[in-house]
Amino acid sequence: MIEIMYLYDTYTRKLKLIDPVKKGHIGIYTCGPTVYRDLHLGNLRSFLLADWIKRVYHYQGAKVTHVKNVTDVGHMRQELLELGEDRVVMAALKAGKTAKEIADHYTRQFLDAESKLNIIPATVFPKATDHVEEMIIHIQTLLDNDLAYELNGNVYFRVNRFPNYGLLSGNRDQTFLMPGLRGEVDSEKEDIRDFSLWRAAEVSRELQWDSPWGKGFPGWHIECSTMSMKYLGSSFDIHTGGVDNIFPHHEAEIAQSESLTQTRLANCWVHGAHLLENGMKMAKSAGNAYTLADLELRGLGTLSFRYLCLTVRYKNRLNFKFSSLCSAQIAYTRLKNMTVFWKNGSVHKGDEFKDALQEWRSRFNLAINDNLNLPDALKIVWEMSKSELPSSLKYKLICEFDSILGLDLDETFFPDSNLLRDSISERDLLRKSTFTEKNDVKKQQLYAKMDSQRSVLFEKGLVVRDQFPNSIVIPRNYEFETAKTWNMVSSSSDVISQIKNKSQVDFTIGFIVQGYDEDAKRCLTSILEYWSTEKVEILIFDNFNKQPVRDWVNSFNQKFLQIKVIRSDHIFGTAEAYNCILNASVGEYVVLLDTSIEFFEKCSSTIKNALNQESVGIVGPFGLLSSDLKHFHTEITNSQDVDAVELYFMAFRRSILNKIGLIRQCFNFYRNLDIDFSFQCRNYGYRTIVDDCIQVKRHKHRIWYDMKEDEREKLSRNNYRYFLKRWGTRNDLLTSTKQK
Ligand SMILES: [Zn+2]
Ligand SMILES: [Zn+2]
Repeated sequence: MIEIMYLYDTYTRKLKLIDPVKKGHIGIYTCGPTVYRDLHLGNLRSFLLADWIKRVYHYQGAKVTHVKNVTDVGHMRQELLELGEDRVVMAALKAGKTAKEIADHYTRQFLDAESKLNIIPATVFPKATDHVEEMIIHIQTLLDNDLAYELNGNVYFRVNRFPNYGLLSGNRDQTFLMPGLRGEVDSEKEDIRDFSLWRAAEVSRELQWDSPWGKGFPGWHIECSTMSMKYLGSSFDIHTGGVDNIFPHHEAEIAQSESLTQTRLANCWVHGAHLLENGMKMAKSAGNAYTLADLELRGLGTLSFRYLCLTVRYKNRLNFKFSSLCSAQIAYTRLKNMTVFWKNGSVHKGDEFKDALQEWRSRFNLAINDNLNLPDALKIVWEMSKSELPSSLKYKLICEFDSILGLDLDETFFPDSNLLRDSISERDLLRKSTFTEKNDVKKQQLYAKMDSQRSVLFEKGLVVRDQFPNSIVIPRNYEFETAKTWNMVSSSSDVISQIKNKSQVDFTIGFIVQGYDEDAKRCLTSILEYWSTEKVEILIFDNFNKQPVRDWVNSFNQKFLQIKVIRSDHIFGTAEAYNCILNASVGEYVVLLDTSIEFFEKCSSTIKNALNQESVGIVGPFGLLSSDLKHFHTEITNSQDVDAVELYFMAFRRSILNKIGLIRQCFNFYRNLDIDFSFQCRNYGYRTIVDDCIQVKRHKHRIWYDMKEDEREKLSRNNYRYFLKRWGTRNDLLTSTKQK
């Protein structure tokens, strides 16, 4: 039964049936984690792939030996550390932690993450540091056979001695080959393609070993060659990894191992595609490397991530969004609840469904065997759930299928199944008597009894759903409830625009919360104090903060004001975030604030007076002037016309948006967005003015101060370019020109 799953082999670029090296046995090698950093969801997705492959073989009756190495020789590059690239490790080193302690910490974290994702532990987790001696022996053998050479304490693999180099990646043309290991450059290498087997240690390096070539440490590739050979033999069945492992890592592994053994390293190379976040590869350097902890912090279950990964084929890139994770969470919880329900249903005897059962099984297997088509398999599970099969048979099937899916569906988060069963029958009894009861008074009493039973059960962690013919009582799932109340937006177009609609309140006050909760709270407190007598709505944009704004905003006294929170499912650019507020706003006047602003007196009538002049577009307490469009350096705080009203505080009639439009969304970063928006306004002949009767306190604008200087300069420059591209020739819009 074992040889029925087809898998796509990167090496031959074909779908392949595995012909096991050892009959009835499958050997799998997976490139494991580097234990000097957090594992992000992208790493975990590729470990899930190996887990699913392994589960299929288990299900089909094979024995599996799975090897997953732990890279702990410290491939963290000293110079990067000194640049502070890896702050966590840097901090740990500063705190006097040894490299080993750090590695142990991250190894535990890795094992913990795997268990949270229900990944079956590998048979062995060999550590690189335990195998350095064997690596040295292999390197020596390569040297003895002229397949490698030494240079200043470094040993390189001689790529031109291995004709098959490049077959896996298709990277055959010399000119396209990038240097071997993570940016290593050694001008004395014989061939730019040659990669390190051994590196001489830098002076400050903590982890180093003696070798025939001096003190040093092994290259990353030789690690995997050595450990796969030791635990799986010269040739094994499946090697898995992420697509970014193909080159140079796996290419180099093949070159080393096959040179040493003269046999094919792996029968089949399976590579999982990337996980993207908002269209970008998830990577620590891109700042979008979410971890399981990020999910947990937001009240989402880790297995819903596993479910999410099931919905996309492993060879396809998966665009990760928290909103899709929420949907996954909801679907997953439903499936789990159904399983609980089926489990507690009456046991079906008789075999009239025997053929039907077999049919479901074969459809499920067909999907799995088609290069691990998990999305189809999942679809079949859902179809089955809605089929005519009796509950107990559905339960039987779902448990079988789940041995591959690995969703822990049978794992009830509510342990007391007796209470569950009793509650169901009690509920049904009550309902039946309400159906038959003719006396209205008694009927009402029964209803009341049902209501109170419902709330008693709810307190005990059970949810009642009355449906025909029986009631369902399911465990409460808190994560499910969280996901349902999230109600997040994925783009500004998700917020229905009210701009053309009539105003419902006098003022909309809007601000974005993105970190710096304390600033936001200070700002909100002052709004509540000085605006509470007005007809005001407050719109808060929760730019995907770790702690949702809703968690704390409810504790504010909101007697007179409406506070609405719009939460995004990823971090929005500033313009898009403000546009969400603008779309949702229903005030006659809109006041956009930065959270560095604090009110200390009322200013609503000042704003109204200023904006009741038809000629005025935007008013605020802080403005900018320019003489040539090239510099907007002069900040104005006394009443006069300005070229731009600063973003700290911009007030305008909502109706002008119909004319001037929303903020241009290319302004991901806030800088110069205000100038651009002011020009949009001035372009329609409106004035932008400072009114010094608007008195507010401006605290430190912390985002600016917390950014690295080069970073903020770069972002500012980009934004300035956007501005100039559109308005660079429009000197006529400047106040100074107009006054001449
Ligand atoms: Zn590897
Ligand atoms: Zn300047």
